[in-house]
Amino acid sequence: MRCPKCACLDDKVVDSRAVKEGAGVRRRRECLSCGYRYTTIEGIIPEELKVVKRTGDREEFDRDKLRRGIANACYKRPVTPDDVDKAVEEVATSLLRDFDKEVASSEIGRRVMERLRGTDQVAYVRFASVYRKFQDVDEFIEEIRQLK
Ligand SMILES: [Zn+2]
Repeated sequence: MRCPKCACLDDKVVDSRAVKEGAGVRRRRECLSCGYRYTTIEGIIPEELKVVKRTGDREEFDRDKLRRGIANACYKRPVTPDDVDKAVEEVATSLLRDFDKEVASSEIGRRVMERLRGTDQVAYVRFASVYRKFQDVDEFIEEIRQLK
């Protein structure tokens, strides 16, 4: 694995546990170069889990895409890569628990928003503005007002 801090490829696994039956393994890793600790999840989304987009198109559930969306929302916020991993893991695990074959992209968005809301409010509003595509300023203000 590539260290998120120094990009070194040498690491050791310090902890391993199953996320869920058939849903991958969560590994705690330590970079051998800089000592940074991070979490990876390897494997294995059941192939049948499809995301149904607004357009009705279906695509494979993609953990990396989920991670990018969350990481973008957290850009320059006091949210560590570990926090991002944890959010990805929790959202992915809850989706795998609750859905067998298909899940609406709006449902994924809703769960990410809920998760970010408890993590960082700026990240939450950023994510919400992308996901909900606020129609106007009032809608945006209403969303922020509800945070208080
Ligand atoms: Zn490193």
